[in-house]
Amino acid sequence: MPLTITPEATRFQQEVKLGRVLIVEDEELIRETLALALMEEGYEVATAEDGRKGLELLSKSSESTYASPPTFDLVILDLMLPYINGLDLCRLMRHEGSSVPILMLSAKGTETDRVVGLEVGADDYLTKPFGMRELIARCRALLRRHRRSQLQTQESALRFHEIVLYPQECRVTIRGEEVNLSPKEFRILELFMSHPRRVWSREQLIERIWGPDFMGDSKTVDVHIRWLREKLELDPSHPEYLLTVRGFGYRFG
Ligand code: CA
Repeated sequence: MPLTITPEATRFQQEVKLGRVLIVEDEELIRETLALALMEEGYEVATAEDGRKGLELLSKSSESTYASPPTFDLVILDLMLPYINGLDLCRLMRHEGSSVPILMLSAKGTETDRVVGLEVGADDYLTKPFGMRELIARCRALLRRHRRSQLQTQESALRFHEIVLYPQECRVTIRGEEVNLSPKEFRILELFMSHPRRVWSREQLIERIWGPDFMGDSKTVDVHIRWLREKLELDPSHPEYLLTVRGFGYRFG
């Protein structure tokens, strides 16, 4: 939902910027105490009392598009939960590609719990009982770290019209849709997008992408360009991005 910016809304906006936190915890007292403490700090808070409800809230938030960014900036997840436990929920979220920071809570606090929690993709781990100050500090640190990495990802992205390439994530989107590229295709596109309009000969491309020891012939380049065109161009036989420069090679844009 878009926010209307009015002077009155400034304080509210500042609060919104702190982030939205989802607490999945079955013990009511802990859940409510956590929610209150975080709200006092200026976070927006949603709660779920079991794993199923937590998953429901998370799935709603992952249906987000460009117009509505993901709903939660941080998830606090208890380990032992009815229906779906914290480990499975965490595993599910990571499997679905969510990168939302997860702080896991556990009553047991054995080293094994901690290790398993981090292995399934939690970012941090806190053992009950814990102090609220400790929890708030951990939340802040997680959010800060996540924002920094999001910013880096955004800043390092290469964009050309509808194509966006994220070098650190080895990911490409076109018209907002994820494209599956092989490692070679990805590296060719990255090279092209880093040097828009520069003409590359087949030999130069082989040298840069396959390396000087490559024994195949330059037809390999043509094959890879064709595959890339099939994945990126609306009409691969009339390419708009990957252009042939007759007698020289290829250029991008
Ligand atoms: Ca529990």
